[in-house]
Amino acid sequence: MAAGRMAKEGGQPGPLLVLGIESSCDETAAAVVSSDRRILSNVVASQIEEHRRYGGVVPEIASRRHLEAILPVIREALDQAGVGIADIGLVAATRGPGLVGALLVGLSTAKGLAAAAGLPFVGVHHIAGHIAAARLADPGLAPPFLCLVASGGHSHLVLVRDSAAGGPGGPIRDASPFLVLARTRDDAAGEALDKIARTLGLGYPGGPAMERAAREGNGDPRAFRFPRPALQDSLDFSFSGLKTAAISLLHHLHQKGETVRTADFAASFQQAVVDTLADTVLEGLRRTGVPALALSGGVAANTVLRKELEARCAAAGIRFSVPPPALCTDNAAMIAMAGCDAFLAGRRDSLDVNAEPAWPLEEAWADGSGGPDGPDGPDGPDATDPAAPVP
Ligand code: ADP
Ligand code: MG
Repeated sequence: MAAGRMAKEGGQPGPLLVLGIESSCDETAAAVVSSDRRILSNVVASQIEEHRRYGGVVPEIASRRHLEAILPVIREALDQAGVGIADIGLVAATRGPGLVGALLVGLSTAKGLAAAAGLPFVGVHHIAGHIAAARLADPGLAPPFLCLVASGGHSHLVLVRDSAAGGPGGPIRDASPFLVLARTRDDAAGEALDKIARTLGLGYPGGPAMERAAREGNGDPRAFRFPRPALQDSLDFSFSGLKTAAISLLHHLHQKGETVRTADFAASFQQAVVDTLADTVLEGLRRTGVPALALSGGVAANTVLRKELEARCAAAGIRFSVPPPALCTDNAAMIAMAGCDAFLAGRRDSLDVNAEPAWPLEEAWADGSGGPDGPDGPDGPDATDPAAPVP
């Protein structure tokens, strides 16, 4: 009998095998991960080609493609791991935030599988998944640490505290391991990169296209001067002003008939996004005194951002950790890992939990019947005070 099943049935404790499922946006993904942090398989079916012609994700198309891909992707993940559903001890799926039609495909499939196979189920917060990716890639990364999650939908700076793995932080009902120090007030970092890349005619997704254009054209990051937006009295991010400044400048230069070197413009805009993220992260580290930083989310695949944070952390004596690019962009290994951590800390979700398209991270750690409609809903335990002590 496989180790995962043994753990589930209460035999000799062995590594638990977790089937993770992710479908919050435009990737249909499934993975098998063990509780001792080994990735047995990590399958991602991207819909990027499908959405490219529209310059962004079309929700209705995303849902339909998820429906077509979900079962083959799960089968592939089990096959590549060399296991069957009988070896799995837990099913975990992204419950939110994301596109509701897209989320429902993965979530309903996961709940159906759990019901049919008699397995426990855990609904995972997508950002908790990105944070788990950092711990999956770097087992030495232990709370407390800050995690910058920068993607197409999110720019969050999160303080991760000890209860993340059911450790000395106490019962999970009493304390969310996640304290959001900063979030974006408007556009996410990846969204800003995507929009400017589209204006430059670089296509979708914009982040990698912008990085490529800057690198291959040997772009000068100081060719254009962009603001480094910082809000008064708050660590929150705001990228819409930077985006508007870039679009206005481009229009102005075109009107004057000047030719714009795309590589220079891309390099300068990318550097402005990187500096803005890095400035906030360093300020967050200074304020909290936390000794470690992790970087995750699709934008964490960006080489310039990785190098900038690595250098600044080295200078400040901060431990820095970033997963390989395939674990930074959306994937299901990270969802399996986050589900596993929550399960081992005592979490179980009932099969009537719904998708949560707009789900605050702090509320995602409430008990299994929680979430926005649960007993710990919006009025439940709150941990949004950045000045709160690290347990
Ligand atoms: P989601 O936004 O749904 O969570 P991901 O975590 O996969 O999805 O992030 C996708 C975002 O990451 C997109 O905005 C994309 O432009 C950005 N991205 C991906 N690779 C890079 C890169 N090399 N540089 C900058 N941004 C990137
Ligand atoms: Mg993501």
